[in-house]
Amino acid sequence: MNQSDVQALYRAVPSVDRLLKEPEITLLNTEYDHRLVKKMIHKALDELRREIKDGVAQAQNCLTEEIIERIKNHCRKAFGPKLTRVINATGVIVHTNLGRSPLSHKVATKVAEIAQTYSNLEYDLEKGRRGERNSHLRNLMIELTGAESAIAVNNNAAAVLLALSSLASGKEVVVSRGELIEIGGSFRIPDVMIRSGAILKEVGTTNRTHAKDYRNAINENTALILKVHTSNYRIVGFTKELALEELVEIGQEFGIPTMMDLGSGCLVDLSQFGLQEEVTVQNVISKGIDVVSFSGDKLLGGPQAGILAGKADLIETMRTNPLTRALRMDKMTLAALEATLEEYAHAASPFDTIPTLKMISKTNEELRSKSDELAKSLSRLLNNVADISIEKGVGRVGGGALPMSDLPGPRIAIHPRNQSAAHIEQRLRKANPPVIVLVKDECILLDVRTLFEEDMLLLPHILLDAITT
Ligand SMILES: *Cc1c(COP(=O)(O)O)cnc(C)c1O
Repeated sequence: MNQSDVQALYRAVPSVDRLLKEPEITLLNTEYDHRLVKKMIHKALDELRREIKDGVAQAQNCLTEEIIERIKNHCRKAFGPKLTRVINATGVIVHTNLGRSPLSHKVATKVAEIAQTYSNLEYDLEKGRRGERNSHLRNLMIELTGAESAIAVNNNAAAVLLALSSLASGKEVVVSRGELIEIGGSFRIPDVMIRSGAILKEVGTTNRTHAKDYRNAINENTALILKVHTSNYRIVGFTKELALEELVEIGQEFGIPTMMDLGSGCLVDLSQFGLQEEVTVQNVISKGIDVVSFSGDKLLGGPQAGILAGKADLIETMRTNPLTRALRMDKMTLAALEATLEEYAHAASPFDTIPTLKMISKTNEELRSKSDELAKSLSRLLNNVADISIEKGVGRVGGGALPMSDLPGPRIAIHPRNQSAAHIEQRLRKANPPVIVLVKDECILLDVRTLFEEDMLLLPHILLDAITT
């Protein structure tokens, strides 16, 4: 490359001010701090000038689009993937990878308020001295579940760990072989058991466990009988498991406490939506199980949390375990959990106020009219590039909550005419905000069950962009 070519390349490099006026850079400024974006512009231009000096840059590298791409890459690298909202068009409500349960505006507002001010987190306003951070929550849980007492920690995995460590460290815990579950993200009952210091005593077989199996396993070193809700699979066919009443009876006969790891923590009856098999927390407590553990962000529809409810003396043993301090939830989560439970206690119907329950309880007519509405605006925008139709679909509760239960409803199928659906799916994941969809038979599938109002407005344009550019 001769000297005048090199000079031409230097001249082709746009100025910082010109780049700042580019719409794509304006967009970056909304996404990242504008000073940092400016820093990345300088970085990209310095890098390019170095390449020109070293004789490795081509005319193409000096095109504004190319430079913007370079700046974007620098921004992405510098600021890493950040936690961002996504549009969940999968119809899977408690989506484990997408943050499980969304909170309502009211609950989120409460969190923001507590986060920005001082609070009575550990202060007793009546007595004017140190209070207990768990107290208000405990009262709500007592009211809602009928348990004598309750305590909350970071997640249900922590709750199970805390319970086992408090009640059975160095002692045996009897569990059916049909219930030695693994939940995604490496929560495995046998492994948690080891960490807690408790000794797993497996009984029965994979498909059948009888009362006599439990009875024969109990000895002077037995500390707990544990039942685990098989949240994410079913054993069907020639099976046998003990009813809760039978388990309680055995516990009482031997003077050994019983515990159930319930998983999803449902407080309302879901059978009216065809979700038969989910047993409520109240139900388990009323059967006489001594301790129940469950998640805050599955069917409860609150923040990530683990709740232990049950007999007061057992909960007190857990509260005073030093592990509790390590597993305790922060004030923002506590605010969210309290506000969620307040909805159960005081709202006319939690199905109107808790997003997860709202999505579960959507009627076929509601889903149908929402689908029609979205399909109509999609057809208007995409009529030259894709075929839109509405077909039968199935939503899911998901998230290790009720993976086997279908929530039938309509879904929109978008068949792009000139591109593969897989390619569009990939583009949608990189959109702003990203859209998560399912792909089947060369169609992009959209389930309106998990869409918010705002998503409905954004989606047609994002799709148009993904298909046409
Ligand atoms: C989901 C689940 C867990 C783990 O709960 P996290 O809140 O994810 O920690 C434990 N046990 C059962 C039965 C579950 O379904």
